[in-house]
Amino acid sequence: MSFIAEKFSEIAPSQTLAITAAAKKMRDEGQDVASFGAGEPDFDTPQHIKDACIEALQDGKTKYTPATGIPELKEAVAAKFLLENGLEYEESQISINCGAKHSCYNAILACCDPEDEVIIPAPYWTSYPEMVRLSGAEPYVVETKRENGWKLTADEFEEAISGRTRMLILNSPNNPTGSVYSKEELEALVEVAESEDIIILSDEIYEKLVYNDKKHVSTATVSEAAKNLTITINGLSKVYSMTGWRLGYTAAPPEIAKAIGIIQSHTTSNPTSFAQWGGIAALQGDQNMITDMVEEYDMRRQYMMSRLQGIKNVDVVEPEGAFYFLVDTTKIGLNSMNLTEKLLSRYLVAAVPGAAFGYDQSIRLSYATSLDIIKKGLDRFEEFCHAH
Ligand code: PMP
Ligand code: GLU
Repeated sequence: MSFIAEKFSEIAPSQTLAITAAAKKMRDEGQDVASFGAGEPDFDTPQHIKDACIEALQDGKTKYTPATGIPELKEAVAAKFLLENGLEYEESQISINCGAKHSCYNAILACCDPEDEVIIPAPYWTSYPEMVRLSGAEPYVVETKRENGWKLTADEFEEAISGRTRMLILNSPNNPTGSVYSKEELEALVEVAESEDIIILSDEIYEKLVYNDKKHVSTATVSEAAKNLTITINGLSKVYSMTGWRLGYTAAPPEIAKAIGIIQSHTTSNPTSFAQWGGIAALQGDQNMITDMVEEYDMRRQYMMSRLQGIKNVDVVEPEGAFYFLVDTTKIGLNSMNLTEKLLSRYLVAAVPGAAFGYDQSIRLSYATSLDIIKKGLDRFEEFCHAH
């Protein structure tokens, strides 16, 4: 007899975090591992953000805050949406959450009943299906095509809809493929969602990480209808190198925002008080370092693209956003779990198995790591690929 809930039997631990922990353990034991594991910026949090948090601590901002966050941070988020995305939200539609991961889970919990289906285009970020299962609903995975840039088409979306479909999860720029949806592509998806009364969860955490003059389009901006059916999620982890701070945010239609507030009031009380003050400094402070950071990522991306194109037995599609390469390893013939295990134990290279993203013939390499590590890791990966 097990005391664990039945729904839990299907839920796997996060592979992105597991591989990163394994690589760290090996490094702590003295092994020279080159890690392409978790998508975690290798830059430190900017000093002015840390200073604002320290000041808040010293000022005694150490107590519970309103469940959905302090008004000052919500105002800063509303101002960001208006200025950068042209989206107007009331403060009551915004909530501050404990990381964008938490924002996604709240949104799924708020909207989905058991038996509801949530459409997830694959390759997907590893946590979406598991969050849906945790909520009691069911993920419905739709495989996208490489020739469509790994993007869900309106036809594929329409075909996947059943009487139980409640939500579509979109993630642009995408983890793990790096693809970025255009305005036209989003318009076509919104049209289908509108006609079928489907909510879109739009995870835009990689908004600022776009390359080759590609533009990020926020789903809610494509029409008034889009705004009424979209939950927009974003966060501070990636763009301000604040992964450990656990700050994400959500803008949602009023009734969904209200439900999220209720969930949060019973589950976390609030995001950490003094971290929220750091969040204000992030959103209101100097944004120039973002340009430098994107330039650095772009340089790494271009380097990796040219190296990967020259490596035997692998294929890549040029990523237009985020900081990942999804490397197609079909020709190597190992499943992604075996491949990444071998790569780590024998070649000291950590990569995330594609199975974690719903595409087993691949591995994911993150370039949120230094060029030195990238060079070392790719030399070893090349050796591995030539030996297979
Ligand atoms: N969405 C996507 C697509 C991600 O890759 C991540 C990983 N950081 C998150 C959400 C969650 O980010 P965080 O919880 O650190 O804000
Ligand atoms: N989102 C990042 C990744 O995909 C960080 C780890 C996680 O939250 O999954 O690697």
